[in-house]
Amino acid sequence: MNLLSEIQYIKGVGPSRAKLLRSLGINTVMDLLHFFPRRYLDLTPLNFEQGRDDSVGAFPCLVADYGYEVLTRSKTRIVKIPVTDGRRKGSAVFFNQPYMKDAFRPGDKLVLIGKIRKNYGEYEILNPEWQKFEETDYVDYTRICPVYPLTKGLTQKIMRKIIKSVLQETLEVDEVLPKSVLKEYRLMPKASALRNIHFPESWEELKKAQERFAFEELLLFQLAMMITRRHLMGEVRKNTYKDFDLKPFLKNLPFYLTEGQKRVVKEIISDLKSDRIMNRLIQGDVGSGKTVVASIALYLAVKNGYQGAFMVPTEILSIQHGATLKKFLNPHGIKVEILKGDMPKAVKEQILGDLEKGRIDVVVGTHALIQDNVKFSRLGMVVTDEQHRFGVRQREALVKKGYYPDVLVMSATPIPRTLALTIYSDLDISVIDTMPEGRQKVETYVVDESMRTRVYKFMESEIRKGNQAYVVCPAVEESDIGLSSVEEIGRELQDAFPHLRIGILHGKMKTEEKDRIMKDFCDKKIDVLVATTVVEVGVDVPSATLMVVENAERFGLAQLHQLRGRVGRSNLKSYCVLISGSKEMGVKARLNFMMRTHNGFEIAQKDLELRGPGEFLGVKQHGMPEFKFAGLVKDLKLLETTKALAGEIIKKDLLSTTEYRGIKRDIEEKFKIV
Ligand code: ADP
Ligand code: MG
Repeated sequence: MNLLSEIQYIKGVGPSRAKLLRSLGINTVMDLLHFFPRRYLDLTPLNFEQGRDDSVGAFPCLVADYGYEVLTRSKTRIVKIPVTDGRRKGSAVFFNQPYMKDAFRPGDKLVLIGKIRKNYGEYEILNPEWQKFEETDYVDYTRICPVYPLTKGLTQKIMRKIIKSVLQETLEVDEVLPKSVLKEYRLMPKASALRNIHFPESWEELKKAQERFAFEELLLFQLAMMITRRHLMGEVRKNTYKDFDLKPFLKNLPFYLTEGQKRVVKEIISDLKSDRIMNRLIQGDVGSGKTVVASIALYLAVKNGYQGAFMVPTEILSIQHGATLKKFLNPHGIKVEILKGDMPKAVKEQILGDLEKGRIDVVVGTHALIQDNVKFSRLGMVVTDEQHRFGVRQREALVKKGYYPDVLVMSATPIPRTLALTIYSDLDISVIDTMPEGRQKVETYVVDESMRTRVYKFMESEIRKGNQAYVVCPAVEESDIGLSSVEEIGRELQDAFPHLRIGILHGKMKTEEKDRIMKDFCDKKIDVLVATTVVEVGVDVPSATLMVVENAERFGLAQLHQLRGRVGRSNLKSYCVLISGSKEMGVKARLNFMMRTHNGFEIAQKDLELRGPGEFLGVKQHGMPEFKFAGLVKDLKLLETTKALAGEIIKKDLLSTTEYRGIKRDIEEKFKIV
């Protein structure tokens, strides 16, 4: 067996498991080794009293009596196995697995791995994983146990076994990082890092392994950014601008620009006047009015004879931004079209044709814009909204369609300056630091379950006033992990308020359906929109005045701030209610911070302190080169270290040396550049 061997030849993997593994993107032994755990269970042996509510623990125990079956009122078949940890009594409880009744006999020694709870004074460990062990081998199970992201048909047990068996072979793992780098930064070599990422010997070793991968990941990312920058930035301007007259545009606006907006517009104009092409990031809090600024850039581009493209992460946003741009630009004879992935063929062909012939001035769309069949006649201005969702590569793909176009990137989440400088090392940064006048703070409350009825009543009263509400849930459908789901809450609300028009929206729905629901919500045909975080980015519904977030503890502060930014978008008094049943001190403090603070940059800074830069690196988001590890890093130092090293590598042109061959190859593969 070697790294390139196909998985069906691994011990314990037959054709059907191989198929399941392939569906997870695992084709070779190498892929398998790079299929990293999502998290780890701490299986330090505990006695029942040491078990913490709702967290998985490992409980060595003795079977005290024969198992027996109970039938609950809801007809669930439950098997209970009486066990003891030596001091306390308890039971292992299995749901709908009647055969477990005879799986153990009194006197068996077990390790039960599962969640423990106290039920009428007796400990219960629910649906545990279990291992029997003999008197002699005390507890021979992995103390730090990996949990993999799996698919139906594969279990953690199987996956662990397969990976363990592969790790037992001697495999020649290529070290990517040069020896000198490993030494200077005291990094764990790749071979042992791979071992420790799956089956860590200790928490310290795990941390070192993660750090090593984070280092590698960030270094590659920084290098890719710098190489792209070399491609894009400092390029001599080819598109010349003569007409900077904004009076007609501003006269048509229903408001005056804020000071912050004016300053950023000035910065853009000075870029366009300079002899280098523009690569600028606009940062601004939610609602600070970034879209108008983008419209101005597009207006200038068209007035000077160029086309513009506006790329957004979701179709919903493409429709909204399309409408906004039409409103701002149509009166000046500028033709704006929206390009969608799934339009009727004829319509799409028409748009594509018009775009290529230069009959369309500005096009708005999702990734659909970077497809090969999209051609421009003279693309001169590329705007991407909510940038952290697009990879360097996607932005570049769009840029390549133009003739050295200027680039404006709008960030969704305000991020602390140091971090911005590091992640967006290829961009100049502008900040809109003022909010439009008349905006009120969104009044924010953190509540627990006991307030739910009151929250619903309040929601109803808001709707009676003619306003609208969002309810955001972390999950789409019901599952056993105890999270509120869109479907469940949607049903619950509809039952409780038959007269309200409830709509649901989540990422698993078809695009047309999503668009229709969102449009109905915008048109006030829906009162309450129950959704996942798909509503997080950018949508603008001015009469929405209430945002309820379920299981608020599941979201990062920056993300909560984004969600909160969906309301308070007009002069109507708006509210944000964060529902959380969590009793953890840290969680409470974190959520309470949202009540006090309304400044996106401060919130981002706090999030950075609490959760590390992962939140901003798009760990949970799509599009960005996938950071698997960088998010685990708790400080900015690693970002800075890797940035400095990347700078040195580029400056000394080390990528062309043999020592750096591995890195070069990986950058090429991962970022499709160099
Ligand atoms: P974001 O920065 O979050 O993308 P938007 O561009 O969506 O914000 O703007 C939020 C809302 O504020 C929009 O309805 C927009 O028309 C409005 N707006 C933007 N600039 C101003 C301004 N200077 N004065 C008043 N309203 C403004
Ligand atoms: Mg926006």
